[in-house]
Amino acid sequence: MTGTTALPAGMEYAHCPVCGAEGEFVRWQRDLQLGAPGEFGQRCCNSCELFFLSPRPEVTDMWRHYPKDYEPYQNELSQPLPFGLSAIRAHARRRRKVLRFVKGGRILDVGCGNGAFLESLGGRDWQRYAMDLEQHCQFTEPVPFFAGRFDCDRPPLENLDAVTLWHVFEHLYDPRQALRHANAILRPGGLLFLAIPATRSLDRHVFGPGWVGWDVPRHLATYSDKAMTTLFREADLKLEAVMPDACNGAMIALSLEFALRSRQFETAVGRSLIAHALLTPWAELLSLVGWASARIYVARK
Ligand SMILES: [Zn+2]
Repeated sequence: MTGTTALPAGMEYAHCPVCGAEGEFVRWQRDLQLGAPGEFGQRCCNSCELFFLSPRPEVTDMWRHYPKDYEPYQNELSQPLPFGLSAIRAHARRRRKVLRFVKGGRILDVGCGNGAFLESLGGRDWQRYAMDLEQHCQFTEPVPFFAGRFDCDRPPLENLDAVTLWHVFEHLYDPRQALRHANAILRPGGLLFLAIPATRSLDRHVFGPGWVGWDVPRHLATYSDKAMTTLFREADLKLEAVMPDACNGAMIALSLEFALRSRQFETAVGRSLIAHALLTPWAELLSLVGWASARIYVARK
C-alpha cells in the first residue's frame, strides 16, 4: 500500500523517522500481543538499517492500544509468574548497569510504568523523578510524577545526573524531540540510558513476524546502531557504550507464542514457567555473543 491509498479513520502513513525515506514494504503485521483488530504495515529503511510502521495509528488514536491491563503498568506480583520474575530481574540488572556509570544523584525515569525501576534504586542516594502517559506507579517514599509524552512534553527539570528510557523510545512519534528534551534536562556530563529492541538480534531472524521486539502497533520503529548513532550525534549526545539489555527465557517463549499465533496456532507457551527456565540459558548465551533481543545505549551530554 502506498501513501496515495485512503486509510481507515485513525491511521496514517509515516516515513523513516531518521532520514524521511519511504522505505521498502516488508509485511503486514497484526497485534499479536493484545489482539487489537487491524493490520499495520512494516517497512524497512535500508539506508538507516531500521524498521518502521506505515500505516500506523495516529498519535490521537494510540491510546486504544494501551489498555489499563497493559502488563508494564501492572505490579510484578500480579503479572503471570514468568513475566513478574523476569521484570524483577531486569530492574536489578539495569540498576547495576546504571551504577557502573553513576552512583547517585538526580534521575528521571521516562515511561516509568509501575515505578519498579526507580523503587529498586531506593531514595538514599537518588533524588528520583517519574514520567509516563498516566500515573500507574507507587513508591514507598514520595517521588514527583510528570504526566506526558517525552517527545512532546518536556518535564520541568534541569541539571539531572541521569535520564532512563527503558523500552520507551520505540513507542515515540518524534525521536529527535525526545533526545532534545533529554539533552535539555541533563547536566553537562549527565547520562542518558536508553534500552530498545535490537535489530541485530538472532530472535528477530528466528521468529520472523512473531519476534516480541516488534510489538505492533505500539512499537513505531525498531532502531539500528547506525540510526541511533545518527540521532545521538544530531542531539549533541556522545554515545559512550552499547550493552545487551536484560534478556530472559520469558521473552523468547513469548516470541515463540507470537510466531505460532501469526500462523493461527494458539498456545500459552509464553506464560510457561518451564519454557522460561529452559530458554533462559539460551537468552544468556545470546547476550554474551552480542545477539540479544535488546540493547542499552549510554550517551553522555
Ligand atoms: Zn532512513
